[in-house]
Formats: sequence, C-alpha cells, structure tokens
Amino acid sequence: MLKSFIEVHPESDFPIQNLPYGVFSTKANPNPRIGTRIGGVAIDLSILDEENLFGKRHGFFADATLNRFMSAGREVWREIRQRLTGLLSSDNSPLKDEAMQSRVFVSVEEIQMHLPVAIGDYTDFYASREHATNVGIMFRGKENALMPNWLYLPVGYHGRASSVVISGADVIRPRGQVAPHEFVASRSLDFELEMGFFIGAGNNLGEPISIENAREHIFGMTLLNDWSARDIQAWEYQPLGPFLAKNFATTISPWVVTMDALEPFRVDGPTQDPAPLPYLTIDSANGYDIHLEVTLQTPAMDAPQTISRSNMKHLYWSMEQMLAHHTVTGCNMRTGDLCGTGTISGPTEDSYGSLLELTWRGEKPIALPNGEARKFLQDGDTVTMKGYCQGDGYRVGFGEVTGKILPALADRRR
Ligand code: CA
Repeated sequence: MLKSFIEVHPESDFPIQNLPYGVFSTKANPNPRIGTRIGGVAIDLSILDEENLFGKRHGFFADATLNRFMSAGREVWREIRQRLTGLLSSDNSPLKDEAMQSRVFVSVEEIQMHLPVAIGDYTDFYASREHATNVGIMFRGKENALMPNWLYLPVGYHGRASSVVISGADVIRPRGQVAPHEFVASRSLDFELEMGFFIGAGNNLGEPISIENAREHIFGMTLLNDWSARDIQAWEYQPLGPFLAKNFATTISPWVVTMDALEPFRVDGPTQDPAPLPYLTIDSANGYDIHLEVTLQTPAMDAPQTISRSNMKHLYWSMEQMLAHHTVTGCNMRTGDLCGTGTISGPTEDSYGSLLELTWRGEKPIALPNGEARKFLQDGDTVTMKGYCQGDGYRVGFGEVTGKILPALADRRR
C-alpha cells in the first residue's frame, strides 16, 4: 500500500490516496491560495509551484479559487496528482527538507478555509428513488408517490449559486409564506444529505456532453447540505418546484475530493428498469460507495448524536446521467458549476437523508439522548455531515460539512 513519509492515522479522511484540493489562508499570509491536505497537514501548492516542483510552472495555485486549475482538464489534474504523490512518498523528495517543510506545511489547526470555487450556476437533482418515493407519499399519497417522469429522467431544478456557503457558516432561519395570508419564520427547517460535484472543463453552448465523456468533465466532489424550509416548500412548489424553500443557504465541505481519488470506490448502481434512453445509457459501474452520516447537536447536548447513516451507492441516477441529461439540449456547463445529487436516502428508516423523512413530516419526532426531541431544526441546532470511502487499511474521506441555525431576523414589517 502506498504510504507517505507524513504519518497519517488509518481512520483519517486524508491519507496520501486522497489529496483533495481546497483554498486556505493563514494569519501569517492572509491571501487565499490553493492547498492540498494530508493527515493534519495542509500543503501550500502555490509555493511548490513557485519552486517549480510540478515539472513546469502553472501559476494558478496562487489563485483564490480552484477555477483556473479546474478548467485545465483531466490530463493536467492527473499530472499534478502524480507529482504530488511522488513528492509525498519518495525517499529523496525535496519535501523531506525541514527548511522546505517550514515554508509549505501548515497545521490544519492554523488555517482558515474559504469557498474553494467561484460557482457560476448551481443545479440540484432528485436522484434518490427512496427519497423521491418518501416525499411523494407524504405530499401526494402512496398511489402518486413517484411522478410519471421519475424513472425516465433524472429530475432536477436550477438552484441558486449566490447562497452556497462553506462549512461552518451559520444559517439564518428563513421567513416566508406558508399558507394564504400566513407569513412566518419557517417552522419546519430541515437539512438534506447530498453530495455535490463540480464541473471541471465545460462544454460549448449547443454541444451536449455525451454520457461516455461525462466523467471527464467532473473535477471532484464535496459533501453538500441543501437546507430546506418544508412549510415554505409545500405552499410554493407547484407547478415550478422549490424556490424560496431552498435559496437561502446551501453548505459545502471545504476540500474537493477528486474523481481519481474516488476511482477505486466505483460500484454498480441500482438496476434501472425501465432501461433509460440511449443518451442516458453507459456500460460501466457509475455509482460510488461513500458512507454518509448525519449528526445533530442541540444547544443542550454535550455531544452530537448520529441520526442517519446512508450511502451514495443507493442513488438511482448517476452523476454521469445527470450531466448527460443536463446538457442534452445543448445547455453549456461552465468551469466551477456545481451540481447536487439530491437527498441521498437509503432503504431503511435510519438511513433517510432528511428530517422530513426521519420524522415522517413531524409525526415521529427523533428522541435525543438528553431527553429532548426534534421534528425539525430549532434555533441553535448544529447539523454535521461526514462521508468517507473505506479502502483496505485506509480511508478516502470528505471531512465534514457543518452549520448552525440562527434565529430568524426580526420581522421589519411589524
Ligand atoms: Ca435538494
């Protein structure tokens, strides 16, 4: 097994097999710049580039976003990953030099992470059959649980990129209409356990991305919490889908894990019946075995409590299918665009990816170990999601995405 000269705990999300990318700053150097991470160490890639340790100078690692690096395409991503792997494992690596280490290594305790990507557009899908079925039963009844189109195409909607925030950002409870003449601070604020994927190189307007080429366009993935106000959603969503119920905040984890790091964890997705149309058909494994977990901590609790365990492999529609479908009209994706998979619910009641499902629309509150109960999120509650792939003796993980609910702003109309 490949090992680095930097010690990494076997349960760390960030061994040498991972090498994610993020944007960070330090007190000593407040300019945001691009780094990778191994164990508890962040590595300043802008200095490695300055020192010409990538074979040629790229320039983009001193940027405050990953976009220029992402737009360079998969060959460049692979070349850099190979160089980094060598630099962190070879016996005669220049990174073994202490003077060099003091310039490029920073403890992750001492860094501030920033939103890693300038996100132009954000699209959210609805790719979990279990989630779509559960929500359908609650909102429309058992007979109409899955809409007639659901098994034929990956349903999605165009979301809001401006309110995508990084893990740790507080989320203010939104206000909105929930019934005729009823304008309130949302009473059923929820999370959605999702994965996000970023577009690397885009496509030209008018030129769809074929399903065979779709993976080449995906730069990497993060955890994603698509915060949702269920009462606002129930009143507003027909006929055009969610609008204000989901546009106030979407939180992502700070380290973008590359598709090359995730490659060993590809698995077959669920059998698709009816068979999708040819433009959505690909003859290869295109699911990912990513363990997912959600914890909740109220202000009165000493420690977070796990309230859901799911896995990305349950998703019915794959990322490749989402991307092929998204662009089949000729719609152009641009570098840095973000797609969400939709809530990833598993088949069992303890694997549902939202409170809406876990509490069955509030009918079955979650009992917490300190005697409290929750139907939906209260002010001061913190939701944290984690995710990792389990290898043989190592993990490739995403760290966490966390956010705390703050009270709604004062209603200024009264
Ligand atoms: Ca969603």
